[in-house]
Amino acid sequence: MDQTFDIGVIGLGQMGLAMAQTLVRAGQSVLGYDVAAERRALFVPHTNQIQDLANTCQTLLLSLPHSGIVEQVMDTIFPYCRPGMLIIDTSTADPDSTRKLAQAAHAKGVFYVDAPVSGGAAGAAAGTLFIMAGGDDDALHRAKPVLDILGRETVLCGGPGCGNVVKILNNALCAAHLALAGEALAAGEKAGLNREALAAALAKGSGRSAVFEVNLPKWVLSGSFDSGFTMGLMRKDVRLFDEFATANSISPILLQTASTLWRESKAILGDSEDFNCMVPFAGERS
Ligand code: NAD
Repeated sequence: MDQTFDIGVIGLGQMGLAMAQTLVRAGQSVLGYDVAAERRALFVPHTNQIQDLANTCQTLLLSLPHSGIVEQVMDTIFPYCRPGMLIIDTSTADPDSTRKLAQAAHAKGVFYVDAPVSGGAAGAAAGTLFIMAGGDDDALHRAKPVLDILGRETVLCGGPGCGNVVKILNNALCAAHLALAGEALAAGEKAGLNREALAAALAKGSGRSAVFEVNLPKWVLSGSFDSGFTMGLMRKDVRLFDEFATANSISPILLQTASTLWRESKAILGDSEDFNCMVPFAGERS
């Protein structure tokens, strides 16, 4: 490939495709790549050769399912990366794996930032994500203009891996809030209350969470269950939290109880189901 691009996006899924389109709207030249041909076809221009991205782009943005795949992709493109390049990994990933990759990048003069996101595919499409960034100061400084396009706010969480620590804790809380909302709704209904009225009231009280404010009206009570975030990806995040707890010798009872519920849900709810299915699951089980 002769042409050069500002940014190469690796992983054109729900999030990566929307982020690539947002970057283009902001005036960036973007080259896309996904291992799946049908996802590649959704973005123009794209390439079938992943190394083209390292050869032709100054910045690489990753949006991949999990750390195993991030490491595999990094192994493949690393030999082609040049000093001065910037890699931003927006995947929700294992902080230890991130630290290892950031260290290898640093040794090669490549800037590496973990920048997991919150706000879903809609936030990625609108450029209003909330971004939790970790990295060395110079890497975070280099990444800022790109993160400013993708997000309404970026919190600098600390050194390499710290963005992913915050993201894992955020999603552990979200996973627990979904289960709690299901149990609270089921309890109120059992007492004869109307589900919609109950949910609307609980969205105003001091016990509220984003689940009551956003998830219930948008994806649960509407019956749409089409948020774009799957049970499989949330179970991966819950697993990351469990590993984090083990690595740090902590046993937070409530969060680990929620983890157990998410693990058990696999018997009934497949990986491709919407993650908001936890609300009826937890309600029925209580
Ligand atoms: P997705 O499954 O829709 O997209 C992942 C993409 O990666 C797929 O298109 C897949 O084909 C591609 N891929 C897999 N292996 C690859 C490889 N070796 N090389 C190139 N491409 C490869 O997932 P998503 O929902 O877009 O999530 C991406 C990341 O963002 C995950 O880590 C997820 O946890 C995180 N996240 C998702 C959401 C959401 O609402 N969907 C929100 C916040 C964070």
